Amino acid sequence: MSNTARVFNFSAGPSMLPLEVMERAAKEMTNYEGCGMSVMEMSHRSADFKKIIDTAEQDLRDIMHIPDNYKVLFLQGGGSLQFSMVPLNLLRNSKKADYIVTGSWAKKAEKEAEKFGDIRIAASSEDKTFTYIPKLSKEDFREDADYIYLTGNNTIYGSRYVEFPETGEIPLVADLSSNILSQEIDVSKFGIIWAGAQKNIGPAGVVIVIIREDLLGHADKNTPTMLDYKVAADNGSMYNTPPTYGIYIAGLTFQWIKTQGGVKEMERRNIEKASLLYDYIDSSKLYTAPVAKEDRSLMNVVFVTGNADLDKKFVSEAKAQGLVNLGGHRSIGGMRASIYNAMPMEGVKKLIAFMKDFEKANA
Ligand code: PMP
Repeated sequence: MSNTARVFNFSAGPSMLPLEVMERAAKEMTNYEGCGMSVMEMSHRSADFKKIIDTAEQDLRDIMHIPDNYKVLFLQGGGSLQFSMVPLNLLRNSKKADYIVTGSWAKKAEKEAEKFGDIRIAASSEDKTFTYIPKLSKEDFREDADYIYLTGNNTIYGSRYVEFPETGEIPLVADLSSNILSQEIDVSKFGIIWAGAQKNIGPAGVVIVIIREDLLGHADKNTPTMLDYKVAADNGSMYNTPPTYGIYIAGLTFQWIKTQGGVKEMERRNIEKASLLYDYIDSSKLYTAPVAKEDRSLMNVVFVTGNADLDKKFVSEAKAQGLVNLGGHRSIGGMRASIYNAMPMEGVKKLIAFMKDFEKANA
């Protein structure tokens, strides 16, 4: 497979995966390690698959430095099912939870949680179209809240937490769907970290949940079996057939991150890529990035020309150059360059070169 036929795909998700991961998967597609079948055709109860899921979990534990008192679960249902699973499992005492609303995904999570308990919005940045992250401390949360919820990186608006709020004894739940494995984080600060796979991990269909053990076993008694984290934990993510092929690809991505130098190296590269792009945007007369500088996402770089027709022209001309999926989310328009771990520096440089040409031609 040659790299020349591939485009630079700036999609927010599903998005680019490391070429090495897909080439290895392609090689192993019809005959995995000489066992005579594809991973897709393998029983999830087989020794071969057990090795795949166990290795994937261990590699994730290694690259994220996940402490022993956390379980790693490989689930299904997309990120959106976590909007329900979190309250169903964690509203265990006061049935209160505080949400920080910093974008559309946090808003959806908050709305869903309202079905299950006493939910309060501790802060929202909707007053400025989600262009910043509210800075909160322990006093901003209800003392008896069962958990505090936030979205670590706002895929649509292009902001992220650089520092997570202090919540004391109250478990902090973070949706890291669009920035897991992009920067080093201290897992022990969280009660639950969850992430859909389709950005930095692998194909859509797998959701990773990292949960502190003491938070298992408190699900509401009417919780459907499949939505109880404890059932998944007690059964090694195999209460039923797990998304086997997606877990296999996730495992290959974790190995790739290891061989590249770990999450620390991903973070170094991501800072380098994002800084180059933001610095250019800030220096340009045509483009502006609406998010507050200190809260800008390393993964989703949002920018506009200020003219919706020109934005459309940008997206279509970029596409013709092999720079695809640069349109902003359908809810806000403009442009968004998603530059996850798998986007090479070469792609960002090519984008900036195109932006310069476009600026000259449309000045
Ligand atoms: N959270 C975040 C931060 C997301 O970016 C997305 C989707 N891109 C979701 C949740 C929802 O994920 P899903 O489409 O898998 O339900």
